[in-house]
Amino acid sequence: MPINRRFTLVRRPDGMPVANDFRLVAEPTPALEEGQFLLRNHYASLDPAIRGWMDDAPSYLPPIRLGDPVRATTVGVVAESRSDAFPVGSWASGLNAIEDYSLGAAGGFTSPVDPDAVSSVTHYLSAVGAIGLTAYFALLEVGRPAAGETVLVSGAAGAVGSLVGQIAKLRGCRTVGIAGGPEKCARLIRNYGYDAAIDYRGKSPDALDAAIRAAAPGGVDIQFENVGGAILDAGLLSLNPKGRVVLCGLISQYNSDPIPLSNIWRLIVQGARMEGFILTQFIPRFGEAIPELAAWVKDGTLRVDEHVDTGIDNALPAFLRLFEGSNEGKMILKIAED
Ligand code: NDP
Repeated sequence: MPINRRFTLVRRPDGMPVANDFRLVAEPTPALEEGQFLLRNHYASLDPAIRGWMDDAPSYLPPIRLGDPVRATTVGVVAESRSDAFPVGSWASGLNAIEDYSLGAAGGFTSPVDPDAVSSVTHYLSAVGAIGLTAYFALLEVGRPAAGETVLVSGAAGAVGSLVGQIAKLRGCRTVGIAGGPEKCARLIRNYGYDAAIDYRGKSPDALDAAIRAAAPGGVDIQFENVGGAILDAGLLSLNPKGRVVLCGLISQYNSDPIPLSNIWRLIVQGARMEGFILTQFIPRFGEAIPELAAWVKDGTLRVDEHVDTGIDNALPAFLRLFEGSNEGKMILKIAED
């Protein structure tokens, strides 16, 4: 039986996660029952949402139980199988955990994937997976962009934000991205085609408001929110009549108490709409988007940046990059060699 190293949650984090909240345990893999298979995880997707699953709070998925490995989407190769649908040597991806091996079963959360349909299997964790699907459906279905409109994106250099900016450009929009630091702002324009970039770091709410007004002199039609807090609040001041605020994420609030919003009244006076987005509501429509996203990635229409750290021992520092802003693209943990 192979040994399974599992990055387990042993204590619920109070604020930013720390090493003592986790333990790396090694266990033998279980014997397979009929219909089951063992997936050798090669890559795990490190997502801000994982922080929410560590809390003992109701959400769209149950909390990770103490003692369980930290839940994450993985992509890997079937190592052992008693399922015809998952032959040994085939690739599969699904909601598993940060561990060497995940137990799967036909009809579960793991699906076969075709490594030849993408230039890198990691794309199943980024542009052709949940990240690309989030950018696609949240922008197109909740934001509903029209050509000529201005789209303001926070967390714009990140996995979701970099794709939102590019898809908005494909729809003929003007794009303004907000990110941390001059290097990321340069990347917004160079790599993702943003028309303007704003460095939020060190800016007071008034300075942020002024920077958004300068970058979007005609106002903002769609505010695509990945960050929340002071950035969301400042953006509301530039919202145009019938503007749409797509609440995709609030990463600035995941490790602390939320700050109150002062400018929510703008929704009233502008007749604007703020709508939450959760990707799981679009599961029945994934089949519409995946071929289009895959084609855009393959023909270079979409630029996909991935930040791959290696080793299950590095799971925590790699995860924390999301909150420090030191990830340069979709944050992925490599667990095994391809
Ligand atoms: P990213 O690749 O964007 O990484 C996170 C980035 O957030 C960091 O690089 C950092 O960029 C920024 N950030 C972190 N902390 C702060 C802070 N306190 N203030 C401002 N910026 C901060 O991650 P993802 O693309 O995976 O996720 C982006 C957002 O989308 C998250 O809020 C996530 O929860 C959400 N999401 C929602 C989904 C849904 O179904 N609703 C699905 C997938 C993602 P910088 O250096 O610019 O500060």
